[in-house]
Amino acid sequence: MTGWYVQSSAIVQIMPSFAPMQFTTAFTFLLIAVGILCYPKYPKLGQLSALLILTSSALSFYGYLIEKPIWFDDFFVKPFTVTETAYPGRMAVNTAFAFSLAGASLLFSFLKLNKFSSLGGYLGLLVFGLGLTALIAYFLDLEYIYKWGKLTGMALHTCSCFILLGLALIFLNLRVLSQKALSNRRDLYLFGFTLTMQIIFMLVDVVIPNGIAVGVIQIVGIGMMTLTGRKEFLLVSLIAALTNIYLGYVYSETIVSSWIVYADRALSVLVAIIVYFLCLIILKKEDAVRQQNKNLDKKVSERTKELSAKNQDLEQFAFILTHDLMEPLRTISSYSELVKDTNRDNLDELGKRSVDYMNFSAKRMEVLIRGMLEYSRLGKTLQLEFTQIDKLVRKILVEMNPEIQKKEARVNLIKLPFIECYSKELEHIFRNLLSNALKFQQPNLPPEIEIGYENRPTHHLFYVKDNGIGIPTNFQNRIFKLFQRLHSEQEYEGIGIGLAQCLKITELHQGSIWVESDGINGSTFYFTLSKMLKTHVDYDQENPTN
Ligand code: ADP
Repeated sequence: MTGWYVQSSAIVQIMPSFAPMQFTTAFTFLLIAVGILCYPKYPKLGQLSALLILTSSALSFYGYLIEKPIWFDDFFVKPFTVTETAYPGRMAVNTAFAFSLAGASLLFSFLKLNKFSSLGGYLGLLVFGLGLTALIAYFLDLEYIYKWGKLTGMALHTCSCFILLGLALIFLNLRVLSQKALSNRRDLYLFGFTLTMQIIFMLVDVVIPNGIAVGVIQIVGIGMMTLTGRKEFLLVSLIAALTNIYLGYVYSETIVSSWIVYADRALSVLVAIIVYFLCLIILKKEDAVRQQNKNLDKKVSERTKELSAKNQDLEQFAFILTHDLMEPLRTISSYSELVKDTNRDNLDELGKRSVDYMNFSAKRMEVLIRGMLEYSRLGKTLQLEFTQIDKLVRKILVEMNPEIQKKEARVNLIKLPFIECYSKELEHIFRNLLSNALKFQQPNLPPEIEIGYENRPTHHLFYVKDNGIGIPTNFQNRIFKLFQRLHSEQEYEGIGIGLAQCLKITELHQGSIWVESDGINGSTFYFTLSKMLKTHVDYDQENPTN
């Protein structure tokens, strides 16, 4: 873009005989770079840039369709003559085509549509292919391949950029895909890249015949192909290597003394075949190990299924029990309320006390059962979301503001991150820990609370620290169990379910929770969340051991 503003044909065009990179092309590249960098934090902006890219290529297509200059051609900058092009300022047809693929790829990756999420990667692969084809055409001087339209060709740096852009779009898509789709695709991409590299070297060998066996590089290709773990890919690679060695021989023969070429190529064939068989042996051994692992995996997955079915049964039982208990309890509660409201004064002392106790116990039981119900429902509808933790905590603080004001508490938030988590459930943890930190304050000491974060290699670590009454060391494990409390209802109200919920939620995040306290001066609750949570809910069922 700078090249256009300062009118430097060296920047815009590189070589006088090459096609220039049009301003609109450069601008669209800038848009797509912004789009890619927006992942995953700013999905709206990313989608907007994908739409602008599609618009930019559509406008160029439209221009070619009506075969006239359009306003978009010189919208940003007046074109200066570098090399004559059919429509000054307009990107080439193949460039517009590659951009429409790239824009669509970006959009698909951002939309994360389960079924179509791989499409973004395939489109990225096509962009890579288009760039590579044009680049090879420059090498081979096949103008009709990189110039689709009359006088408008893809510039040399444009096709190089498309190669990089294609790779970027593929890698972006790999971040979007689920683990399972990813492992399948990785082999295919590796195959694609290795074969492409082999073909490029074959072309170089044919175009610049120098008698030196590029076959050696082909052997590296065979080695790389072993990483895909597939025999058929290995064979394709061997065929590509042998073809290269043969073609190189044919093209080089006239230039270098023939016995050198002959010996060189013969040696390459020999080494290629030896390496092929060695790789084949490695693959067979890997296959055997993989088979063993598969059997093991199968067993583990069967056991996991059995266990999770039993677990579900238990949860279902708890759910039905608590749900069905609620109804008779509500009846007891309302009748005791009725007796209390209408007949209390007619009862003797014992009667009055009995009604009061009955009423109080029914209410408490209702609260307990509601807590149980909430506990058994946890994790039933999990949804992974990218979450700004700072924002999430601030929202809770706003809701708790009356309590915070009343207690003259101070809450400090330190470097809270942006992470992928089960947002709704995580909010529960923060709400529980914060309300406990406010509740268990030292007499006459306003609560001071600190919420912070540490980035660990495999986990996110959060902590909530207070200056409250502390928790004695021998009770520090007990408090995470259901209904375990260290104080009576009269001292501090509550039912002892909050921390059990926190424990369950951290387990859903494949993490843990614990507390540190000297039992006198405040406590610090720590909890961790795994960074490798599955993106798609069906992942466990499809691939239980990956
Ligand atoms: P609840 O708050 O309803 O009692 P929880 O499960 O949240 O239930 O907590 C269980 C127990 O752990 C509490 O009763 C209290 O004794 C102890 N506890 C929890 N948080 C704190 C804290 N920040 N400071 C001191 N004690 C705490």
